[in-house]
Amino acid sequence: MKEIAPKVYHIPLMPRNSINVYLAEGFLFDAGIKSSKKKLIRKLGNTSLHTHVLTHAHADHQGSSSAVCQHFNIPLWCSEQEKAFAESGDVTRQYPDPNHLISRLQRRFWSGEGHPVSKTLKEGDKLGNFTVIETPGHSQGHLSFFRENDGLLIVGDVATNMNLLTTFAGLHEPPAIFTLDKETNRNSLRKLAALKPKILCFGHGPVLVNDGKFERFVAKL
Ligand SMILES: [Zn+2]
Repeated sequence: MKEIAPKVYHIPLMPRNSINVYLAEGFLFDAGIKSSKKKLIRKLGNTSLHTHVLTHAHADHQGSSSAVCQHFNIPLWCSEQEKAFAESGDVTRQYPDPNHLISRLQRRFWSGEGHPVSKTLKEGDKLGNFTVIETPGHSQGHLSFFRENDGLLIVGDVATNMNLLTTFAGLHEPPAIFTLDKETNRNSLRKLAALKPKILCFGHGPVLVNDGKFERFVAKL
């Protein structure tokens, strides 16, 4: 676990940063797949963790959510649109094709138990110094989180900083088979680029210290 900015820790759960979660001002953003639960609980150790937040209820973000909430006795928050999936644990039901082989494998091996959501979040809500940014497209109720004072952005899966097949770093749109509406997601990317974020924290791929690379990537879409 590495401090990448004041009170923000990057917690990679898989090799080559292929699945990441972040602890920021005591909020745990996302929770990886279900088999990561022991590793995640160990890494969180005795940090000052008070709330678990989902960028979106996909299997590789929600898998250890219930385990973490139960272990640390903390509440789970997400958007209104993701709530039913987070609570049921039936998260692959919101994929574009729930019967696709990869969706079925994720349902079996990655997604975790559902957990009650105690608060839903919407555009403009504040989480400490972070502001909720609604970024739909990849999933209906996808959220990103922006800390204006240092430009740190919890991106979620609006973009990845990794080619998910080769694992090489680089900016990409999220894979089509897991993205509900590509055009809506592109609008969310434009919304994030307009913030001119300085440090980008992705669900997949290394943290990006941004010198304008992100805005150039988005401008080309
Ligand atoms: Zn996703």
